[in-house]
Amino acid sequence: MRLPRFDYLKPDTLKAALELLALHKDDAKILAGGTDLLVRMKNGLLNPKVVISLKALNELSYIKKQAGYIKIGARTSLADIIASDLIQKEAKALFQACEKVGAITIQHYRGTIGGNILQDNRCQYYNQSDFHRSGHQACHKAGGKICYAREEADRCNSTCQSDGATALMALGAQIILAGKDGERTVDLADFYTTDGIMPHACESHELLKEIIIPVLGAHSAYQRLAYRSAIDYPIVCAGVLLKPSPENEIEDARIVVGAIGRSPLFLAKASASLKGKRFTDMTAFKKAADDSMNASAPFAVHNVGATLEYRCAMVSRMVFQALEQAAFSAAKE
Ligand SMILES: Cc1cc2nc3c(=O)[nH]c(=O)nc-3n(C[C@H](O)[C@H](O)[C@H](O)COP(=O)(O)OP(=O)(O)OC[C@H]3O[C@@H](n4cnc5c(N)ncnc54)[C@H](O)[C@@H]3O)c2cc1C
Ligand code: SF4
Repeated sequence: MRLPRFDYLKPDTLKAALELLALHKDDAKILAGGTDLLVRMKNGLLNPKVVISLKALNELSYIKKQAGYIKIGARTSLADIIASDLIQKEAKALFQACEKVGAITIQHYRGTIGGNILQDNRCQYYNQSDFHRSGHQACHKAGGKICYAREEADRCNSTCQSDGATALMALGAQIILAGKDGERTVDLADFYTTDGIMPHACESHELLKEIIIPVLGAHSAYQRLAYRSAIDYPIVCAGVLLKPSPENEIEDARIVVGAIGRSPLFLAKASASLKGKRFTDMTAFKKAADDSMNASAPFAVHNVGATLEYRCAMVSRMVFQALEQAAFSAAKE
C-alpha cells in the first residue's frame, strides 16, 4: 500500500504551525507520530493536500507538575508517559492505558498522546483497504447512505477505541486547543461529539497543544479487553477514579467506559452511587459495575469484532476490576 501524494510541511515553532493551519485549514492534516494518520492515508480513507508535521516541535513534548495540575504537551510520546514517575504516581490510569496501546516497539515510541486522543473512530467495515471496501456499497462515512454496523441508522456509528481518551476522561482531564488567534480550554468529556464521522470538537484551524490533569490525591485504574495483549485495539475498556475523604470514605468517583460506542462514556449515575461508600465495599463496586453496563448498553455498537452481548457483559467486569484495583491502591497508602 502506498501513500498518496501530498505536500509535507515541517514548521519548527508552534506559531509557524498555527499559521500554516490557518492558511490550509481543511486541506491540511496534522502529523504527530503518524501511526493512525498514515495507516488511514495508505488505506485510501484520507487524502490531504498538505501534511503539517509536528516532529520539530519539541516545545510540545513535556510532562510537568504545576499549580496542582499535571501538564502534558500534545506531542509527548506514549513511551515518555509510561516512563514518567509523576504519571505512575499521580495518574496511574493513564500510565496503565498507554502501556497497553498497540505494540511497544512502534506505537509507544512513535505514537503521541495528542494523536492518541485525536485518532479517528474505527469500524471493521470501514477501516479496510480500498480493494476490500470496493466490494460494498459506500457507507455514511464514505459518503453513502447505509451503515453496516446499525442497519437502521441514518448516521455513522464508528467506535472510539482510544485507550488514552478513556483514562484521561476518568482522570477529569481538560485539553487546550490552540489556533492562530488564541486558545480555548475544553473538558475532555465535552470534546467527543458522538458523531462517528467528525468525532472530535476540534476546528480545522486548531491544534491540540496541552492536556491538563488535576492532581486530586485520588486513586485511579484502567482495565481493558483486547483479542491479544499487544498490537490489538481494545474491544471494551474502563477507567475509574476514586477520591478519598478525610474519613477515608469515597468522596468522589468517576467511571468512564470506552471502546463500546461513538465516544467514551462518563457514567455520572454509576459514579455518584459510590459517594460515601467505603473502599472495601465490594457490593457497592459490583452494583456500580452492573449499573455501568446497563447505562452503556444503549450506546454500544457492533463494529469492532466480538459480539455486542459479550462486549456489554464485559463492561461490568472491566469496571469492577478497575474499581477493585483503585481501592487496592488506596489501601496501600
Ligand atoms: C497496529 C496498530 C495498533 C494500535 N493499537 C492501539 C491501541 O491499542 N490503542 C489505541 O488507543 N490506539 C492504538 N493505535 C492507534 C495509534 O497508533 C495510537 O493511538 C497513537 O497514540 C496515535 O498517535 P500518533 O501520534 O501516531 O497519531 P497520528 O497518527 O500522528 O495522528 C492521529 C490523528 O490525530 C491528529 N493529531 C495528532 N496530533 C494532533 C495535535 N496535536 N493537534 C491536532 N490534531 C492532531 C492527526 O491529524 C490524526 O488525525 C494503533 C495503531 C495501529 C496501527
Ligand atoms: S459505523 Fe456504519 S457508517 Fe460508520 S464507518 Fe462503520 S459502516 Fe460506515
